[in-house]
Formats: sequence, C-alpha cells, structure tokens
Amino acid sequence: MKAEIIAVGSELLTPYRLDTNSLFLTDQLNRLGISVIHKAVVGDGPDEMRSSFEHALGRADVIVSCGGLGPTDDDRTRQTVAELLGRKLLQNEDVRRKLEERFRRFGRAMPEINLRQALVIEGADVLRNPRGTAPGQWIEARGHILILLPGVPQEMRALMETEVAPRLAKLGNRRRLYTRDLRIVGLFESEVEQRVRPLYGQYPDTETTILAGANGIQLHPRIWSDDPAYAEKRLGELVSRMALALGENLISTCGEEIEEIVARTLTENHATIAVAESCTGGLLAERLTSISGSSAYFLGGVVCYSNAMKTELVGVPAELIEATGAVSSEVARALAEGIRKRTGAALGVGITGIAGPTGGTVEKPVGLVHIGVADVRGTSERAWRFPGDRERIRLFAVQNALDSVRRHFLFPPAPKPHQE
Ligand code: ATP
Ligand code: MG
Repeated sequence: MKAEIIAVGSELLTPYRLDTNSLFLTDQLNRLGISVIHKAVVGDGPDEMRSSFEHALGRADVIVSCGGLGPTDDDRTRQTVAELLGRKLLQNEDVRRKLEERFRRFGRAMPEINLRQALVIEGADVLRNPRGTAPGQWIEARGHILILLPGVPQEMRALMETEVAPRLAKLGNRRRLYTRDLRIVGLFESEVEQRVRPLYGQYPDTETTILAGANGIQLHPRIWSDDPAYAEKRLGELVSRMALALGENLISTCGEEIEEIVARTLTENHATIAVAESCTGGLLAERLTSISGSSAYFLGGVVCYSNAMKTELVGVPAELIEATGAVSSEVARALAEGIRKRTGAALGVGITGIAGPTGGTVEKPVGLVHIGVADVRGTSERAWRFPGDRERIRLFAVQNALDSVRRHFLFPPAPKPHQE
C-alpha cells in the first residue's frame, strides 16, 4: 500500500514553521507496512488544497492530511474534501455534544464558530480526539482511504496512535519495514560510505540511508518484508558485516547516543568524571548531565576561558600557558590532569581550541581543538581540525571529547615508565 501525506496550513509555507507532523506520520505508516510515496505542504487556499488532494487520489491508496480542521474561516480541509468527493457536510450531534461538554468542563460557553468542527463528511467515521476539539475523519471513497487529522502535533499524534493505526493494522497488510540504527563517530560521511558501499550490492533487497551531522554519522539499513524472521536475518547479517567494516568507529547498532554509552561505561567501571572546558563553554558538561542519574558519575566542571582561571581553578601552570599558548596539547593535558586532581575524579577531561570565526592563526587555525583525558594510568591527548562554523566546531569538539572518554576505556594509555 502506498500513502501520501498532505500537511495543510499557510504557516507551514512561511520561514517560521516547518512541517514536522509528516515525519511522525511516515514513521507510523512505515511500521504498518505502508510506504510514503509523496508528501505535500499546502496553504489554506481552497484551490491549492483541492488540487493537492486530487493529485494524491491519483497515486496513493491512503491519504493522510493534517491541519485545517480548526473552527475558523481559513480551516477548510473538511469543506474541500467534501466538495472534491461530491459529498455533503453534515452536523454530527454526537460530536456537537462532546464539543459542548468539553467547553463546559473548562467553564466556558462554546463559541458559535466551533459548531463547524462538528461537521462531518457524509459516510465518514469520526475519530475521537482525546486532546482537543477537532475530531479526525476516516473516509473510504473510490477505493482510497482518506484520513483527516488536526494539525496540532500532540492531537495529531494521539489520534494517529489510538484511532488510525489500529484501523490501518486491521487492513491485513503483513508487509512491514524493518530497520536498524547504527551510530558512528570519528569518520567522515564519505569514509563511512566508502567502507559500507561494497555491501549494498550483496543485499539488494535492503536500502540504507546515511545521515551526517556534528553528532556523528548514522546508518539506517532497512528492509520491507512480510516475513519477520527473514527480515531480521538479512538485517542482522548486513549489520554484522557493516560492523566489521567500521571497526571501533561503530559505537552502537541500536541508536544509542555517545553520552549514553559513556554514562554506561563510567557506571560499569564505578568511575567518576570531571571536565575543564575552554572552547566548548560547558557543552560537554551539558551532554554528560543530560542523562538521568548523571550525578552518580559526573562530579562537576570548570568553564575556563581566561588564562588566569585555567591556572587558579584548574592548576594549569602559568609558565606552561606562556610557553605553549592556551591552545596546545600540553594545556589540554594539563587541564585534564588538573581538573582530575582538584576534584578527585577518576577521569579528567580537558578541552582547549579555537571555535572561531576570529582568533585563528596560520599555526593555530580556526577549528583546531585539543582534547585530553587523564586517569590514574596516564593521560591521552588528541588534536583535531574540525570544519564548519563556530557552532559546528563546538559540537564536533564535544562529540569527540565524549568519544575520547569511550576510547580511553577501550584503549587505556600506556602506563608511565617506572621512576627510580
Ligand atoms: P485544528 O487542530 O483545530 O484542526 P489546525 O489543524 O488548523 O486546527 P493549526 O491552528 O493550523 O491547526 O495549527 C496548530 C498548531 O500546530 C500550530 O502551532 C502549527 O504550527 C502546528 N502545526 C500545524 N501543522 C503542523 C505540521 N504539519 N507540522 C508541525 N506543526 C504543525
Ligand atoms: Mg491550520
């Protein structure tokens, strides 16, 4: 079965609002074995809306719209679809009563215009909206199913889950989309692509999407099948071979974020962590503490931009900063070691770099970031040259700092030579 989604709302054609409802709807439809072949975003104008629905009827079995079910003049989805199908709009007594009840519950009289929301297309099933006033409508016409949903995201979601999905599931379509979510750090998109591309030809019944961002690369291999065991086997095989190709850069095959992996690793090792951040302004601390229960392993952090703060709060020797500059391997190491010592944490992380766009030099260009990780066994440090603007550089830095912590457990630093 093929579906088309129509997002209705003139605000979705401005620079201020994006149609995100269709992402949720696509996910829900895919889970039910229905692929989305087309999406449209259309304003409140009746002619444009009508032509969108007409086109959709020409190519999709299921048409899901969201928006335009409000009580005002510019909410025209009901009207437009009724006209297109040549059906009447009828006052539904049951819906009207529920609307009035809802207003009464909130101690308000129902404005006359809300009566419009009790208009139901002839022959439609009313889909009860537990979160708002406009009910959804399920219409079967000309061999198609049209589903009208409200635009408010919470209402749309609730209706889709409680009313629409169970009905679509009953249509007896056994075909489903099976998918995996691989997370990769420390490689560029093209490097990931190059490593896994040879596999695509060997699994022609699968399709893989690659998503790249400052938070790493995601690979989503997918397969449509009506046989769950076959789908799981094919995906399992493909993922194992991708894992071999990606090696230690593959951090998760189930969509786990790097901070979750770091949190788990720290917890399993009964280790605590503290951070000293220069160019990331506290973003590393933010990511580490975004996980519930983080106070078990995160002791705290210092955001130190001035040299004096690096020395006073983290114990980086002033002479060292003088000798190497604030952005250097040595200072990253000293920040990691210093914060570890000052807080008593098992692990210390130090970040120093140039987020730009100003402040770069030939020797130390914008995007240069040093990340140090220290523990009782020693200190490891890596320098990076990240691309992009200030925001991306900072995000890359934090992502790789988290990855440095993960790697610190995978590949411990060599022990210090024994001092006589
Ligand atoms: P009703 O919910 O009563 O049917 P409506 O469907 O026309 O009315 P709007 O008033 O157009 O809903 O939108 C309500 C809110 O939902 C707005 O904040 C709008 O930006 C948001 N919204 C509407 N459609 C979408 C969409 N496709 N994706 C994301 N947000 C949306
Ligand atoms: Mg609208």
